[in-house]
Amino acid sequence: MDLFEYQGKQYFARFDIPVSPGDKADTVDEAVAAAEAAGYPVVVKAQVQVGGRGKAGGIKLADNADEVRLHAGNILGMDIKGHVVHRLWVEHASDIDEEYYASFTLDRAAKKHLLMLSAQGGVEIEAVAESDPDAIVKLHIDPVVGLDAGTARQAAVDAKIPERALDGTADILVKLYRCFTEGDCDLAEINPLILKPTGEVHALDAKVSLDANAAFRHPEWAEYAETEVLDERERLAKTHDLQYIGLDGTVGIIANGAGLAMSTLDVVNQVGGSAANFLDIGGGANADVMAAALEVINFDQNVKSIFINIFGGITRGEEVAKGIVEALGRVDLRAPMVIRLDGTNAEEGRQILADAGIPESKLRSEPTMLAAARSAVALAQN
Ligand code: GDP
Ligand code: MN
Repeated sequence: MDLFEYQGKQYFARFDIPVSPGDKADTVDEAVAAAEAAGYPVVVKAQVQVGGRGKAGGIKLADNADEVRLHAGNILGMDIKGHVVHRLWVEHASDIDEEYYASFTLDRAAKKHLLMLSAQGGVEIEAVAESDPDAIVKLHIDPVVGLDAGTARQAAVDAKIPERALDGTADILVKLYRCFTEGDCDLAEINPLILKPTGEVHALDAKVSLDANAAFRHPEWAEYAETEVLDERERLAKTHDLQYIGLDGTVGIIANGAGLAMSTLDVVNQVGGSAANFLDIGGGANADVMAAALEVINFDQNVKSIFINIFGGITRGEEVAKGIVEALGRVDLRAPMVIRLDGTNAEEGRQILADAGIPESKLRSEPTMLAAARSAVALAQN
């Protein structure tokens, strides 16, 4: 779950990471009120989940209420790389001596956390990685050991951050690491991390992505649900509690279990097709879940065929079959279905489908995963 900058800064503040005083604003009047409270000069910032807002005209400095009105009016409703601005963040403007970069992520391959730190911030880190890879210090952190101030300071020294910014940077790194671990982030990034003329180090931007799997221990995350950016398909899937990820191919996929769903994507690719989504209906799915899954897939206009790949374990074949029959009564499916039904009660399931008298043009049964993939891909390409 990706947070907007203002939410990321509020999240940072819980971990004592210094950010500028400010407030969100959805109208020009609210922007002026936020500016008055923060104190001039202020910076008016578009809240969209895309980088390079400054270059796109989505970040403006303002010295008085008239300038806030002008900029807020221009930025609200602006389209930045396909993201329309509905909300602003207005904060007290900072004087900047230098701009750095700092982030924590998980390095799955190394089974460690990864700190990336650079004295060249304010630009996209990918650009730095390309032009001057040595300017980025990468430090693996053993999650059992954690990150202490001394190690953080040494990383800052290695990144050639100047002497007068070392303590401030180390302090923020330790706090940002706590935010990353205790705050259950997938990503905690500050770009730029700034050095002010006063010598203070400070987060000027915030990019935070929360690990949705940890939501159960963060009731406070509920407030982010209303601002979460989902496409329409994902929104619909969420209302049915389905594990769904929208993709841009033409074969809709329904499988039970994340592993099987991923294998199904692979097999569809292998035989020359492309998946429209990832959808795991989970173990023990009943008819209702199956029907909901078909509804979500049917909503996607790009879907040209639907591949239902079920290997019954806890999920029973007859429940899957009942769900399909039910869905056919409930929604007018645009795309033909191909099913591979195996495992627990597969026979019973196939019998239910046969008894339902569904025409071959709407539902075809195949004996293997590969045959079903070929069939679904052929249908999608016709
Ligand atoms: P992004 O481009 O979307 O990542 O937005 P940022 O929040 O990182 O801001 C982009 C740039 O705008 C920064 O690198 C700064 O150079 C500038 N900027 C943002 N806030 C301030 C501020 O308070 N004072 C000054 N002087 N510049 C700012
Ligand atoms: Mn930034």
